[in-house]
Amino acid sequence: MSLYNPTVCPPADQIDIPAIRAKYLAERDRRIKKEANDQYVPTSGKYADIYEHDPYNPVVPRDPITGETDVVILGAGYCGMMVAAQLKKAGIDDFYNVDHGGDFGGTWYWNRYPGIQCDNDALCYMPLLEETGYMPSRKFADGIEIQAHCRIIAKHFGLYDNALFHTLIKTVNWDPAINRWHVGTNRGDQIKARFVVLAMGPLNKPKLPGILGMDDFKGKMFHTARWDYEYTGGEWGRPELEKLKDKRVAIIGTGATAVQVVPYLGKYAKQLYVIQRTPSTIDFRNNRPTDPEWFAAQPDGWQNARIENFHHAAMERLSPGEPDLVEDIWTEISRNVNAELEAEGWPDVTPEEFARRREVMDYRVMERLRARVDAMVNDPETAEALKPYYRYLCKRPCSNDDFYPTFNRPNVKLIDVAETQGLERLTENGFVHKGEEYEIDCLIFASGYEVTNDLDRRWGIDVIAGREGLSIYDYWREGFQTFQGMMAHNFPNMFFTGFTQAGANATNSKTFIDQGRHIGYIASEAIKRGVAVVEPTQEAQDAYIAHLRSVAVDNSAYVNECTPSYFNNEGDATKKRHIFGEPWGEGYYAFEAMLQRWREAGELKGLSLTPEAALEPAE
Ligand code: NDP
Repeated sequence: MSLYNPTVCPPADQIDIPAIRAKYLAERDRRIKKEANDQYVPTSGKYADIYEHDPYNPVVPRDPITGETDVVILGAGYCGMMVAAQLKKAGIDDFYNVDHGGDFGGTWYWNRYPGIQCDNDALCYMPLLEETGYMPSRKFADGIEIQAHCRIIAKHFGLYDNALFHTLIKTVNWDPAINRWHVGTNRGDQIKARFVVLAMGPLNKPKLPGILGMDDFKGKMFHTARWDYEYTGGEWGRPELEKLKDKRVAIIGTGATAVQVVPYLGKYAKQLYVIQRTPSTIDFRNNRPTDPEWFAAQPDGWQNARIENFHHAAMERLSPGEPDLVEDIWTEISRNVNAELEAEGWPDVTPEEFARRREVMDYRVMERLRARVDAMVNDPETAEALKPYYRYLCKRPCSNDDFYPTFNRPNVKLIDVAETQGLERLTENGFVHKGEEYEIDCLIFASGYEVTNDLDRRWGIDVIAGREGLSIYDYWREGFQTFQGMMAHNFPNMFFTGFTQAGANATNSKTFIDQGRHIGYIASEAIKRGVAVVEPTQEAQDAYIAHLRSVAVDNSAYVNECTPSYFNNEGDATKKRHIFGEPWGEGYYAFEAMLQRWREAGELKGLSLTPEAALEPAE
């Protein structure tokens, strides 16, 4: 029996698809800002504290480190942890995880806002469940549970001994004289590292909306990634914001974060203004406890099988007869299309016909979600403004049962700033919208992260210089240039992770585990074989990129019709910057199989190998 709520989408013949599509395009057009990414204010300079200050844990003084290590991993979030665990498995113990947070977790360390939960099936999303024997309590786990699980993983793999917390890497310079990287940090560390792995995650640095008069406002301001419980009351895991009962609060943004926060602000604040430029898609939550008997009965390998099934449903295509194990917001379109095909006896449809069916189903699902707003929000004008008009995956889909009803509270008002493309301005006492000033005590930025901006701005590392001092920022200014998405010519012994020119799995941690395995293989083979330097040759890199581009799937038509966001480089189609980088068009599992064949061949083909003996003595 399906666990998914049987809410049914309206049939296609009851939807005027051309008219809705025209509305989608109009909604996109009125939001496109010519400033695109430049509209945002970075959390550097006078706003650096928003990024750098840790409101949760004090920075403990320590002496700078000046030694040598095999590997420096920049990051101790999911990606940095997965790489570290795989290095351990490959027999490399001598490494550091360096992170500016005070513990493992990355985004799950920093984000402690009220209502924080994962929007993905925890049985896929939370990594290494079989290895750690951990059963997520619910389908959608709370942030506090996910961070606790990060600590379990770190203990399981013995990562605490190797962690340098509250430390920001500032300089990374290749030294050909000793064939090592010099890694400098804001704590005065000067570490010599044989290898460096950049594992900072795609949504690491908070950004601020560019609003006129930002510095005029005299009230309280903070970003959701650094929640100030001191000000609001409550604490992480106990979202009772009692100190807001006499406060007028505004929150900017209605993305995945704000959707989770708004119900708590509406419940506790004296007055809440929700400032919305583009509405999210918000389905019902249907959260539920994990059944321990079901969990205990799972066969070996169940998590990877579930992740693969989820990936098919969310990002590729379910095979004929393949069940949808995850059954939630992410998989509805695939599940429905497969049900249609099953009813027709599995006709052999072309990719174009499959895409057409998906598109029609997309309109039907979005129509259902818009009807959900009408059913839950009393005021018709507010309901209309909350309806999302774009295709399903133009923004990160959300699920929440309390967001819409919050707008029925007398103390909550939606401020729809779509027409003005953002707030008019801030003043000393509040904000101005359509000429009217609204007084507030507190302004909360749920304004997201640097995702598609230039890498130097996103990464916050002053220098990453490879051979001849070449900056990675310059080398990649017009796009990634990699071998296997993980190494680059001119940057010996350096590994990149995440969404570059690699496979992208719908479950991030799966991508990171597999990348960690590949990096662990190359690094450990180099050490075993007495190789000082591994670096892709120019020819191998060119051939890799040529193949990647020859099999690329062009989804620009879909993406460019979306309302602007970091999913489509804020609507700026002139630059190809996408959260997923340039993904491997043949699919994630084809990419993985390709890497596995490469490792099994054991030749490290495409890499130039400089033996340890060629090391020049240090001066
Ligand atoms: P987003 O980037 O998704 O949202 C930022 C919000 O700020 C948008 O609503 C945006 O509007 C709004 N905004 C920006 N500038 C202005 C402005 N000048 N005036 C008004 N509004 C403005 O950030 P989130 O923190 O919500 O989410 C980031 C990502 O983090 C998610 O996409 C998801 O990947 C992840 N996340 C995951 C969760 C999980 O469950 N696993 C939970 C929370 C977040 P507009 O859309 O018009 O640009």
